[in-house]
Amino acid sequence: MIAVDEAKSRILARVNILESASLDVGKCCGRVLASDVAALRDQPPANASAMDGYAVRGDDVAPTPVRLRLIGEAPAGSMFDGTLNAGEAVRVFTGSVMPDGSDTVIMQENTERPDDNHVTITVETKPGRHVRLMGHDFKRGDTLIKTGTRLSPRHVGLAAAANNAALDIRRKPRIGVLSTGDELVAPGQAERPDQIVNSNTPMLASLIKRAGGKPVVIPFVGDTRAQLEAAIKALPEMDMLITIGGASVGRYDLVQDSLSANGFELDFWKIAMRPGKPVFFGTLDKMPVLGLPGNPVSSIVGAYLFLLSAIDKFLGANAETVRTIAAVLDGAISENGGRQAYLRAKAHQNVDGCMVASPISDQDSAALNSLSNADGFICRPPNAKAAVSGDRVPLLFFGEFGLI
Ligand code: AMP
Ligand code: MG
Repeated sequence: MIAVDEAKSRILARVNILESASLDVGKCCGRVLASDVAALRDQPPANASAMDGYAVRGDDVAPTPVRLRLIGEAPAGSMFDGTLNAGEAVRVFTGSVMPDGSDTVIMQENTERPDDNHVTITVETKPGRHVRLMGHDFKRGDTLIKTGTRLSPRHVGLAAAANNAALDIRRKPRIGVLSTGDELVAPGQAERPDQIVNSNTPMLASLIKRAGGKPVVIPFVGDTRAQLEAAIKALPEMDMLITIGGASVGRYDLVQDSLSANGFELDFWKIAMRPGKPVFFGTLDKMPVLGLPGNPVSSIVGAYLFLLSAIDKFLGANAETVRTIAAVLDGAISENGGRQAYLRAKAHQNVDGCMVASPISDQDSAALNSLSNADGFICRPPNAKAAVSGDRVPLLFFGEFGLI
């Protein structure tokens, strides 16, 4: 048995960052940047009005009231071509380029229109007000977003505003999911009490997709060497394989043997964690293969800890998808044994904004209902002392947007 951290670093040692390609900026949300995004223009591209109103010379507008001659307008998208001289004003709108000679915008609300050709400024305005200076937001050549950033809608907006039509994006890792077990049937097909619905394949495929990978669903197979080896021989091209089930020491746990018959090299088997001890890892022609146990909670704990980190590394992401935060315990936890434990917990923020976590009573590793009701896992280091309400505990938090 090896420790969780060691397992993680041995897995990541076999994961290489993927190549990248150009992608339309509007399709980049959720993807990881493979090169810095630079500004291709100044923003704003010229001094611009921040209000609907009148462009004037600051020197002309104090004291008020003052009457100015209206010499034209500059709607957004067409500049006023001419120069504004003393005693003159130009009608402008939010985003209009400031006419030459002007330096101040008077809000429409602070004006009156005695006739079509004049405007009266009724409220004093400081020179320079309501003007966005050229390059105020960013300047051509500025680095705006760093390589390794997982792009949010906000990043997409910034990159587009900076005149980038396409971005350099890391390819999605193709990750195979192969469930094994004679008892498995597809969702909707369960009829007999000795059948179990294959819930792990859709669960892990969904997780892979959410985390930025491309799941490759391989039809599940039964517990015979013949079926397992045939599935392994027929594997499509991919970057990593996840097998589910058959990883323990039972008579029908033949996944490792079947892989070995195809050239698999084992790196490690069994991790000091609970649930999910019988995890194995190795390579098949350099492709990393992670073998997760079949119990759904064990398999998802293994996936959070190892698969998601692997996806982060394939993508060169500079922030980890799975984050552990500090929480205050509400409840009691007995002392932990030698394996790192992950306890399903409900969590909420208290009135002070602190995260509070309470362990759920059903910790059975086959129980999906309590997994689905949980907001995270309380992480218990090996041999942790008993904990009581008020103690601080690390919480692997699923996140408010349900990323994981
Ligand atoms: P195993 O790891 O093969 O010993 O399986 C442990 C338990 O997980 C057994 O009760 C299996 O029926 C169940 N199991 C295995 N694979 C899956 C799967 N793909 N979906 C749901 N349950 C599974
Ligand atoms: Mg099995």
